[in-house]
Amino acid sequence: MTPGLTLVELAHASDTGRVRAHNEDRGVVAPPLLGVADGMGGARAGEVASGMAAGALEDVAGARLTPERLQAAVEQANRDIRQAAAADPSRAGMGTTVTAGLLQDGRLHLVHVGDSRAYLWRGGRLVRLTDDHSVVGEMVRRGTITAEQAERHPHRHVVTRALGADDRVEVDAADLDLDDGDVLLFCSDGLCGPVEDPQIAEVLAAAPDLGAAARGLVEAANAAGGPDNVTVVLARAGHGAPAPVPPPEPVPTHTRRMPTLPRPTVGPDAEPAPIPGRSGEPPAPRVLQQVDRARSRRVPIIIAAVAVVGIGAGALAWAASRTYFVDEGSGGTVHTFHGLPVGLGALHLYRQEQDTGVAADDVRVAEPGALGRTARGQGEATELAARLTWRFGVPAEWPRLRVAPPPPPPPPAPPPATTLPRVTPVPPTGTVPTPPSG
Ligand code: MG
Repeated sequence: MTPGLTLVELAHASDTGRVRAHNEDRGVVAPPLLGVADGMGGARAGEVASGMAAGALEDVAGARLTPERLQAAVEQANRDIRQAAAADPSRAGMGTTVTAGLLQDGRLHLVHVGDSRAYLWRGGRLVRLTDDHSVVGEMVRRGTITAEQAERHPHRHVVTRALGADDRVEVDAADLDLDDGDVLLFCSDGLCGPVEDPQIAEVLAAAPDLGAAARGLVEAANAAGGPDNVTVVLARAGHGAPAPVPPPEPVPTHTRRMPTLPRPTVGPDAEPAPIPGRSGEPPAPRVLQQVDRARSRRVPIIIAAVAVVGIGAGALAWAASRTYFVDEGSGGTVHTFHGLPVGLGALHLYRQEQDTGVAADDVRVAEPGALGRTARGQGEATELAARLTWRFGVPAEWPRLRVAPPPPPPPPAPPPATTLPRVTPVPPTGTVPTPPSG
C-alpha cells in the first residue's frame, strides 16, 4: 500500500458504436470512485438500469464513502432496479452490469457484477482484475474452453449475473494495493469484446496521455466493427493534486456515420442479408429497437435457462462424484464404476475403474441382482468387488478369457533329396549286400 496516492489524471469516453441505435452504457467518474455500468433491456430500459446504477454510485461518492457502503449501494441499486422493472411493464427484464473501484489510502476497493471489466496497467503490463460473470467466462474458468475460443463463442454476451436479474445479487469484492503510476481502466464489453487484451495494451502503451488512450480505445472498438456501446474510464494513481473531472473525450462523429462494417454472413456473428438497394446505409433505428425488445425478453429467459441447466448439471456432478457401482464392464467382466449408472449412447456419467476379472454371466446366474448395485462410496464398491472375486474366482480360471490359440505347428516337410545325405537301405536278414559296381 502506498499512502497518499490520489488520482492525478482522469479521462473517459463513451460511444454508441457502429451498430446500436442507443448508448445504454454509463461511465462513473466521481473520484475517488470510478466505474462503468452497461445496461440491457429493450425500449431504452437498459439506459434506465445503467443510469440507476451509475446514479446510485455517484450519490454515495464522497469523502465518507467506505468499501462497505459502496457494496451496500450496489445491492440497493439492484433492489431499486427490480422495483422499477416491476412497476413498468415496458421495463420488465431490464438490468445492468456494474464494475466500480474506490481509491482509499492507496488501496483500490473493487465491486463487480456482470461482464464489464476493470484492468490494471502497471509497468507495461495489462492485468485483468475482474472475472466475467458470463456463460463463457464460467467455461473459461472451468477449463472447458480457452480464452481465445471464448472471444468467438456464440454465447459470449450472455451474462450470468446482473443488477436487476434477481432479488438478491452476489457482488464480487476485491482489494488491491496501488503503486505510484498505476493506471486503472474500467470498460464495458463493447471494448473488451471486439478488442483483445494485447491490443488494449498496445493502445495504452502508445498513448501520450490518458485522454489519447481513451479516444484510441473507443476508436479501436469501432475499427473492430463497433458491435456494441463502448465506454472506457481511465485514471492514473500518483502523488499530487487530485485531477478535476474532465469532460468526456470527443469521439469522431464520422465513426457513427460510416456504414456498418461488413460482417460474416454465416456463423454466430452473421447479420441478415442487406436489403437490396440499401446496402451501405446504417440500419434503421426502428429495426434496432425491435431487436432490442427481443433481447429484453430473451435475456431473463436465457439467464433462467442457464441457471436451471447449471443447477441441474451441478447436482448431477455432485451425485456422480459420490456414487460407485459394480456392473459388467469391457470384456464381459465385472468392474467397479465411479459415477451414476446412467448414459445415453457415447455420453455417460461414470468412469470404469477396477476390473474384478469375474465373468458377468456367472454372477448373473448365481447372484441375480448383484450387478448394477450402487455403493455409498469407493470402499463399499471395492468390498462388493472383492466379495465377487472371492466367490467366483480369479481371471486365470475364467473360461471366457479370450486368448488367441497358438497357431498349429506346420506339418513336417519331406527332406529335399538334393541336400540331405543319401541313406543306404538296410538289407533283409540273411542276404549279402552286393558291393556297388565300380
Ligand atoms: Mg455491452
